[in-house]
Amino acid sequence: VLFCPTATFDFYKKEHRMNELLNVGAQALRRAALNQEAKAYLLGNAHLFNVLKKAADRYIGGESLQETVTKVMAQNQEGFKCSIEFMGENVATEQEAAEATAEFAAICRIIMDKNLNSTVSLDLSHIGLGISADLCLNNLRTITNAAAAGNIEVIISAEGTDQTDAVMDTYKKANGFYNNLGITLQAYLYRTQDDFNELIGLDGRIRIVKGAFETKKGLSMSRGTELDDAYLSYVERLLRNRHKCSIATHHAEIQSAAKMLVDQHKPEKDFYEFESLFGIQDQQLKNLKNEGYHAKVYFVYGTEWYLYLCNRIAEYPLNIFRALDDITK
Ligand SMILES: Cc1cc2nc3c(=O)[nH]c(=O)nc-3n(C[C@H](O)[C@H](O)[C@H](O)COP(=O)(O)OP(=O)(O)OC[C@H]3O[C@@H](n4cnc5c(N)ncnc54)[C@H](O)[C@@H]3O)c2cc1C
Repeated sequence: VLFCPTATFDFYKKEHRMNELLNVGAQALRRAALNQEAKAYLLGNAHLFNVLKKAADRYIGGESLQETVTKVMAQNQEGFKCSIEFMGENVATEQEAAEATAEFAAICRIIMDKNLNSTVSLDLSHIGLGISADLCLNNLRTITNAAAAGNIEVIISAEGTDQTDAVMDTYKKANGFYNNLGITLQAYLYRTQDDFNELIGLDGRIRIVKGAFETKKGLSMSRGTELDDAYLSYVERLLRNRHKCSIATHHAEIQSAAKMLVDQHKPEKDFYEFESLFGIQDQQLKNLKNEGYHAKVYFVYGTEWYLYLCNRIAEYPLNIFRALDDITK
C-alpha cells in the first residue's frame, strides 16, 4: 500500500466502502433500536434475548441494582469513582414514573448503606417529564431528598432537543432545593452556548458530552474539529472558573487535550472528573487514573438494555465485531 499508488487507491476505495457500510449498519441499528415491534419480538423470544444479552453484558452493570453494586464495589476498589443509572426513558404513565422514582431513591439508599463512592444519574423523562413538568419536579424532589441524607450527587442527563427546554427549566427549579444536583450539556448543540452561560452561574456539576441524539438540521454540529473545539472550550471555562465538571467522552485526543487543561488550571480534587461509560475504551480511563487523574465509570442497569446496546454499537459501528465475538463465546 505504501509504495504502489494503484494499491493505495484500491485501499482507500475499499476503506471508503467499508466506512459507508458501517454507517449504513449504524443507521439501521438506530432504526431497529426504536422499532417497538422488533423490541417486542426480541423480548418474547427467549433464545434471541439470551443471545443478544451476551453482547449487552459488556456494557451494563446488570439487570438488577444488586448485580451493579457488586461491579461498582470492584471499580471503587480499583480507585474509580462511579455513577449509577437505572435505564429507561419516556415513561407513559404516572405509575411507571413513580416506580422509576422509587428505584432511584433505592440507589441513593444503597450508596449510603454500602458506602459506595458513587453518584446517581437519570433521565428526567424516566421520572415523568413527558407526562407533566410538575410531576417530574415532585419525583425529582423525592430522589434528591433520598440523596440529601448522604449528600449524594445526582446528575441529570441530556435528552433529545424536543426536551431540552423542559430539562433546563426543571433543573433550574430543582437546583433551588438541592445544590448537589448536576446537569449534562451537549457540546454539539448551538444553543448550549447560552445554556452554559446561564448554568455556570449555578452550583452543580456540569457534565460535558458531545451529544448522542439526531437533531433537526441547523441545531447541532457534526463530529469534527468544530465540535472538538467547542467541547474543549466548555471544559476550559469550567476549569478556569473552578466550576465542578465532568469530562465525559471516550475520545482519546480530547482526553489528552483536557489533561493539559487540568494540569494548567490545577482544579481541586473532585472539581473535575474524566468519565466514561462502563465497557467503552476502559483502558484509556484506566491510563488516566494511573496517571493520577480523577476517573469515573458510568454504570447503567435494568432490563431495557436493548436500546442501550444498539446505541453503543451505532455510535461506533466497529463494536459490531465485538458483539459477534461476545455472542459466539
Ligand atoms: C459518562 C457519559 C454520559 C453521557 N450522557 C449523555 C447524555 O446525557 N446525553 C447525550 O446525548 N449523550 C450522552 N453521552 C453520550 C455522548 O453524547 C456521546 O454520544 C458518546 O460519548 C460518544 O462520543 P465521544 O465523545 O465519546 O466520542 P466520538 O466523537 O463519538 O468518537 C471519538 C472516538 O471515541 C471512541 N468511541 C466513541 N464511542 C465509542 C464506543 N461506543 N465504543 C468504542 N469507542 C468509542 C472511538 O475511539 C472514537 O473514534 C454520554 C457519554 C458519557 C461518556
